[in-house]
Amino acid sequence: MDHFQYLDGVLHAEGVALPEIALAVGTPFYVYSTATLERHFRLFDDALAGSEHLVCYAVKANSNQAVLKILANLGAGMDVVSGGEYARARAVGVPGERIVFSGVGKTRAEMSQVLAGGIRQINLESEPEMELLNRVASDMGVTVPVSVRVNPDVDAKTHEKISTGKAENKFGIPIGRASEVYAKAAALPGLQVVGIDVHIGSQLTDLAPFGEAFEMVAGLTGQLRAEGHDIRRLDLGGGLGIPYQRSNEVPPLPVEFCELIKRKVGHLGCEIVIEPGRLIAGNAGLMISRVTNLKSGEDRSFLILDSAMNDLVRPSMYSSFHEIVPVVEPVPGVEPEPFDVVGPVCESGDTFAKERLMPPVEQGDLVAFRSAGAYGAVMSSEYNTRPLIPEVLVHEDQFAVIRARPTFDEIINRDIIPAWL
Ligand SMILES: *Cc1c(COP(=O)(O)O)cnc(C)c1O
Repeated sequence: MDHFQYLDGVLHAEGVALPEIALAVGTPFYVYSTATLERHFRLFDDALAGSEHLVCYAVKANSNQAVLKILANLGAGMDVVSGGEYARARAVGVPGERIVFSGVGKTRAEMSQVLAGGIRQINLESEPEMELLNRVASDMGVTVPVSVRVNPDVDAKTHEKISTGKAENKFGIPIGRASEVYAKAAALPGLQVVGIDVHIGSQLTDLAPFGEAFEMVAGLTGQLRAEGHDIRRLDLGGGLGIPYQRSNEVPPLPVEFCELIKRKVGHLGCEIVIEPGRLIAGNAGLMISRVTNLKSGEDRSFLILDSAMNDLVRPSMYSSFHEIVPVVEPVPGVEPEPFDVVGPVCESGDTFAKERLMPPVEQGDLVAFRSAGAYGAVMSSEYNTRPLIPEVLVHEDQFAVIRARPTFDEIINRDIIPAWL
C-alpha cells in the first residue's frame, strides 16, 4: 500500500496534493504520511502478536515528536541513543518503562538522566560502560535492568558505514567473551541482568545474517542460563532494509523477519524486543524540492534543485539511491533523459544522482525524493546557512507543519559575539 500516489495527474500524500503544501510552506520540505507510519508499525506488532514482545521504534530514524506521538499512540516503545532522544520520547508521553537506551558512548549525565526519569533497560556496550553505570546507579541508590550488546561477528552485507555486527566495528562486546562479561555484570550491585542485546546493522536486504546472529543469541541464552543468569528478554535490534529502488529491490517483509525471530528464539520463552527504525519511517516520507535551474554542461545536463546535501545527506554520505519523480505525472510515452541531479552547495559532493534517467522537467517544477522519511530530516544541517527545511505531516485530507522553517534571524541570532569584539 503506497500512500504517495498520483491522483488526477498530481502526486499526493494520502489525500493532499503536494503542490498545495508547497504553496503553503515553500520548498524544500519533508512530508510524512500518518497512515504509512501506522501501517509499518503494525506490520511488526501484529507479526509478533501471540508472543510477549515490545516493538521499540528506533527514534534516531525520525525523531519528530509528531511522528513519535503517532507511534506511541499505537503502544510503541522507543529505542533511544542519547539523552536528547530520551527527552523527546518522554515529552510525547512515553513512560520510561517503554524506553530502551542503546548507544556506544553513554555519558554519566545521560545515565543519571534516564535513571532519574525511568528506563526499561540499558543496553551496555563495554565493560568500562558497565562499571560507570554501576557507579551512577549505586550513587543514586537504584538498580537498573541491563542487557549486554553482543557482537556476533557476522557480515550484515550492507553499506560499511551502517554495518555494526562485525568484530572490527565499535559496537558491543565480542560474543566469545559474553560469559566473562555477564559474570562481572552479575556481581555489580547497581545492575540487574535481564537479557541479551544484538543489532548487526542497518538496511539489511537479506535475512541470512539476522538468522545467523539470532541463532548465536539463542545459543548464548542457553549458556548464560546454565551459568545462573536470569535471561528473560532478548533485544534483537532493528536493521531491516527497505526498497529504495522499487523496480529491482525486494527486501524481506517485516512478517518474514518476525517469523525468523520466532523460529530462532521462540522456544526460549523470552520476551522479544525489536528496534525497527528505517522500515517504519523510511517509506513514510518524501522530500519535495523545486527545480531552480537546468544547466547544460560539456557532456551532461544538470538539474539544479533548491534542496541540497544539508537537507538530505544520504546520497553524499552513503552513495545511496533515492527515486526522484516529478510531482506532476509525466505524460505516458515521454522519453526519459539522463540528468545529474544536484543541489546548490559549494561541493561536488552535493550531488543526489548522476546520469539519472528521468522524465524531463523544467525550471520551477516540483520533484519528489521517495523513501526520505528515515535518516533524512534528522541528519540535516544548516551548512551554507541554509535553514533546516520544514517537516509536514499529512493525515487523510489534512496537513500540519510539525517543524517550521526557521527565519534567518533565528539562525544567525544563535551566534554570540564576545564583548571584546
Ligand atoms: C540505528 C539502530 C536501530 C535502527 O536501525 P534501522 O536500520 O533504522 O532499523 C536499532 N537499534 C540500534 C541499536 C541502532 O543503533
